[in-house]
Amino acid sequence: MNVRRGTYVLALTFCSPADAEAGALGPVHLEPGTYCYVGSAMGGLDQRLSRHLSRTKTLHWHIDHLTVICDRAEAWESYPRFLPECELARLAEECGMAPAAEGFGCSDCRCRTHLFRAGEDSVQSLVSRAGLSPYPGRQLLFNKRGYPRA
Ligand SMILES: [Zn+2]
Repeated sequence: MNVRRGTYVLALTFCSPADAEAGALGPVHLEPGTYCYVGSAMGGLDQRLSRHLSRTKTLHWHIDHLTVICDRAEAWESYPRFLPECELARLAEECGMAPAAEGFGCSDCRCRTHLFRAGEDSVQSLVSRAGLSPYPGRQLLFNKRGYPRA
């Protein structure tokens, strides 16, 4: 079976203020809004993105602490066109996104962060500038607070 490898962007929406303990990074406080996380899945996009969109998992990466408490999650992949994750992070800032938590998800590179607060229209702007495709698996995830289903 052909394993699709590439990088991705997760857009996580929080309807109310969120506090997470992101492992070694410590406490992260997020105001309500949408946040974009950039990552790479060279082991396979399907496996990684279905994990990100699942609530039942062992919390391992910084982002895991957010995907289990967000109200909504959407995923886009840099595939078949490929941009390295740090290039996606640079583009996110160019699209008007603001760094959200210093050191988040970027232990292995020189970026300030791989988590950004997304302003209005900036997610769509990043998706089109980076040529991202919607993740063909399950797109949305809702919590029990009843964020409306698409
Ligand atoms: Zn980076």
